[in-house]
Amino acid sequence: MKGLWYDLVNLFFPRLCQACGNALAPADEEICLHCMFLLPYTNFHLDGENAMEQALWGRVPVQGAAAFLYFNKGSRVQHMIHRFKYRGRHQIGTFLGRIYGYKLVKQPPYNTVDMIIPVPLFKKKQLKRGYNQSEVFAKGLAMALGVPVETNLLFRIRESESQTRKSQDERWENV
Ligand SMILES: [Zn+2]
Repeated sequence: MKGLWYDLVNLFFPRLCQACGNALAPADEEICLHCMFLLPYTNFHLDGENAMEQALWGRVPVQGAAAFLYFNKGSRVQHMIHRFKYRGRHQIGTFLGRIYGYKLVKQPPYNTVDMIIPVPLFKKKQLKRGYNQSEVFAKGLAMALGVPVETNLLFRIRESESQTRKSQDERWENV
């Protein structure tokens, strides 16, 4: 829907960047070019001894572990995640999954995955929120990696309590 009609609609209802709140250019999806450039990418997928992998050493056998972005309070990332998780903007999740997938698609061991299994939400929580944010992110990842998303293999059997007041070991036990 580009052209005059698009310009008119955009004049009255500008599409806004989900990270900084500024108006988006017609070609932008969800996030403006400026934010895309400035997002704090971890690039963990390029480093086999990254902090995420190290956190898992001795706990579970893994072939690779990575995280997309660093999270800081008050940052663009927090703003995006908040809109994604609590404001119903699930498009942000698919979009982020897709751009992360394009970073991973040529990088071993991520380029050889067979499927993506999102972390399930407890049923009651999913009904309340309307979607599982991990599944939405997985869909974007899967699109870029060309693999299926499997949601029928892993189930959450009990509601986890709030994680914030637990020690790191207690959190592991709990999940
Ligand atoms: Zn922005």
